[in-house]
Amino acid sequence: MTDLKDNIKKIVRPDIQALQAYGVADPGDLIKLDAMENPFPWPEEIKDAWLGKLRTVDVNRYPDPASRNLKTRLREAMAVPDDQEILLGNGSDELIQMILMALALPDAKVMAPVPTFVMYRMIAGFCGMEFVGVPLQQQDFGLDMEAMQSAIREHQPAVIFLAYPNNPTGNLFSRQHIETLLDSSEGLVVIDEAYHAFAGATFMDELGKRDNLLVMRTVSKLGLAGLRLGVLAGPADWLIEFDKVRLPYNINSLTQASAEFALCNRRFLDEQTQKIQTERQSLMESLTAMAGLRVWPSDANFILFRPARLSADQVFDGLRSAGILVKNLDKSNPALQGCLRVTVGTPEENAAFLSVLQKLLTG
Ligand code: PMP
Repeated sequence: MTDLKDNIKKIVRPDIQALQAYGVADPGDLIKLDAMENPFPWPEEIKDAWLGKLRTVDVNRYPDPASRNLKTRLREAMAVPDDQEILLGNGSDELIQMILMALALPDAKVMAPVPTFVMYRMIAGFCGMEFVGVPLQQQDFGLDMEAMQSAIREHQPAVIFLAYPNNPTGNLFSRQHIETLLDSSEGLVVIDEAYHAFAGATFMDELGKRDNLLVMRTVSKLGLAGLRLGVLAGPADWLIEFDKVRLPYNINSLTQASAEFALCNRRFLDEQTQKIQTERQSLMESLTAMAGLRVWPSDANFILFRPARLSADQVFDGLRSAGILVKNLDKSNPALQGCLRVTVGTPEENAAFLSVLQKLLTG
């Protein structure tokens, strides 16, 4: 019998063998401020009504493959223009995968400013596509327009991903810069509005004015991360192509029913989003007031910061020993050396985080 390891080496794509699987930290009992989740649970009366709705779902049957009822709710909730189509994914991660699977011609390239959401690069790799990362301006993480335009001319990317606001830097890129990129790119431009709820700004109302614009949203940051539901909005002609690589029934019945329910009762989610924005403001003020910390402004539900005298590892480990989990970005990109990212939590969670951080910084 062939040795298992040799066989794997021979059969699995070498570029996949060279990858590390996307690591997600096990939170255990830690206060979870690492993944941009909404920290507030559902009110009990909402949970009861939701369970009532779930009782009506026939899980012995396949889900509606077209998620028709859910799509109607989503179009309304996200103000998708009437003449535009929508496509649903098992999280926006899956939408990125569908887009790239459909565009993966032998020489097709994927572009994004970096640092940004890591899945653009990872999924490009899964699909055998070259990823071109164009560094953001060092000072404020704005788009470097000269570098972007020259990279577009050189690489002619099939698609450019722009996270708006950007993760992990938290800023909204200049609208005018994005419009210039839309005009200078022959390929698609996907505006990833995962953090839209905290920023307000959107390109949804620009859909249809330009053929190469798509807008992506997710319900994850609204408070529904466990459902795994992403939305891609744009011209039908593009979405018809991407729909061909969508696995049938990718949105399961429980997600369809639960998301529909949540959107029908969205007032409590909107209130939670409001609270998160208020908390972001006070967390930002407290962090900015701390000596020995560089803090970047944020239009999202997380804040990027860099301790001046301690390493990111020291702060990460110190927080973790005290029961708090944040994201250590130190080794993710040269521009983020020494940086960490904290998600806005509940008032109690934020207070715990601030108090431990303060102690670490003052030794
Ligand atoms: N886009 C951005 C910019 C993100 O930061 C994330 C998740 N952190 C996603 C997309 C993926 O979201 P989803 O949960 O819908 O897969």
